[in-house]
Amino acid sequence: MRRYSVALIKGDGIGPEIIDEAVKVLDAVSVKEGFEIAYKEALLGGAAIDVTGDPIPEETIRIAKECDAVLFGAIGGPKWDDLPRDKRPETGLLKLRKALEVFANLRPVTVYDELVNASTLKPEVIQGTDLVVVRELIGGIYFGQPRAYEGEKAYNTMVYTKDEVRRIAKVAFDIAMKRKKKVTSVDKANVLEVSQLWRDTVNEVAADFPEVALEHMYVDNAAMQLVRDPKQFDVILTGNIFGDILSDEASMLSGSIGLLPSASVGKEHGLYEPIHGSAPDIAGQGIANPIATIASAAMMLRYQFGEEKAADRIDEAIKRVLKEGYRTKDLASFDAKEVVTTSEMGSLIAQYASEV
Ligand code: NAD
Repeated sequence: MRRYSVALIKGDGIGPEIIDEAVKVLDAVSVKEGFEIAYKEALLGGAAIDVTGDPIPEETIRIAKECDAVLFGAIGGPKWDDLPRDKRPETGLLKLRKALEVFANLRPVTVYDELVNASTLKPEVIQGTDLVVVRELIGGIYFGQPRAYEGEKAYNTMVYTKDEVRRIAKVAFDIAMKRKKKVTSVDKANVLEVSQLWRDTVNEVAADFPEVALEHMYVDNAAMQLVRDPKQFDVILTGNIFGDILSDEASMLSGSIGLLPSASVGKEHGLYEPIHGSAPDIAGQGIANPIATIASAAMMLRYQFGEEKAADRIDEAIKRVLKEGYRTKDLASFDAKEVVTTSEMGSLIAQYASEV
């Protein structure tokens, strides 16, 4: 029997509701595919502040490091907004990412046929879009030294080492091998030396993946191409600041925040979470969309545990519920046949994922 351990961090707001549904689905597919998951709950964000006074207690870091993966809901809310920065929920999440040394952020964007009208772009432009943005998360201009704000002058430093580029490029090529085998590396090599090093290093890594087609694209063009013809992309590989901007742009292609999963992975650890926040405005009402979190759990199975079949089961089940017209309230105006609660949506996906 294959066994995995998962740290469950439910967090605040809708966090507990959506994580419960992801666990329901994971339990269903693990029975079907013959593996076992042991869960360990840990506190983060407001939930941790209320109990311990600290947004990330030591015990949470220990549990997260000991487990094979972390599945996380969301944190934050008005209750904790007035605390000093180092005591706020968000500080807990940043510290967790750092402690786990997750250097690659993966954001898949799938446009479901049934929801093409949920986007602000024309259906014919986005229909069939299925891409992943792979963003370097702990280097580049956000962390480079020297940096300073000096009265009339301020500066930051964009720096990458070949090692940093190599490890993120390898993640992108590995993912491309499991998908449509195309990588688009995005940089600004016509202007920046750091981008030239990025490009040279990506070319070197590409030599180890002869089956993957590699293209290079300048970031300004990539921003334009994402809204002009997003279907041309499979895996977009890029640095920290370009990835920050492009992944938010890409997430809007689908038009629905409740559907999009993400993963942050490192050499050892992986943190899987929906891209949305804790949605305090709808917490506790049973109307949150659990699909982004359930899809994050599928990413965990695929990328952390190599349980491809179980992950495929979940992804197919999500497509099926949407095709059959089941919608949570956020998507009720897009061809809904039946509006369901958070828990009903989780049960349907669990049921469909365990059929066949
Ligand atoms: P949000 O993503 O929580 O909500 C934005 C809007 O989308 C809200 O109207 C919300 O109801 C809706 N929404 C979000 N997720 C949904 C879902 N699954 N189903 C249905 N509707 C959904 O962003 P916000 O309102 O800017 O932030 C709320 C809190 O979340 C803040 O405290 C913020 O700091 C925190 N936050 C946390 C994370 C995280 O934990 N990773 C990320 C972003 C924001």
